[in-house]
Amino acid sequence: MLAMASSGTAWRFCRKSSRRRKHRSHGPDHRPAAAYQERLPMSEQRVPCVEGLFTESNGAATLHGSRCAGCDTPYFPKSAACHNPECNDSRMEDYDFGGKGVLWSYSVADFPPPPPHKFDQPFVPYAMGVVDLECGLRLIGQMVDKPEDVQVGSDVELVIDTLYHEDDKAFTSWKFKQI
Ligand SMILES: [Zn+2]
Repeated sequence: MLAMASSGTAWRFCRKSSRRRKHRSHGPDHRPAAAYQERLPMSEQRVPCVEGLFTESNGAATLHGSRCAGCDTPYFPKSAACHNPECNDSRMEDYDFGGKGVLWSYSVADFPPPPPHKFDQPFVPYAMGVVDLECGLRLIGQMVDKPEDVQVGSDVELVIDTLYHEDDKAFTSWKFKQI
């Protein structure tokens, strides 16, 4: 499950993670994440890691989800039915999400994810953010900001950025960028 409506309760992300408060120092071999713009070479072919979930325009992201016609609860990815326990409506309509939000919490991935996840070598630690978007959707996604720069409560925007490279292509996903 990639995302959920803010009215849901399934997300068990720990806001008081000690990891968030711990200052980690990196050794001289640590490769700092490049600035966001520096990782957008325009010459390489960019391919969405999953077709149909999102589109990009000049680096800005549009997520293709759905919304309940009865209670306006947003869903991403699309949902076939509304899961709001206080709503009996089953009419779902396509809805595009984008824009800005606020970082609710985050965690730091210090180790490479297990297969089938893919990542560029050498692995660079990154922050996974949980963001409350203006549209009411609570969404998780990787942060383009370096983990030591990420702050809960920051204003963020949705962007499309590279997850990994394969066969001379850059496979992309939505991410968040502090603004
Ligand atoms: Zn509903």
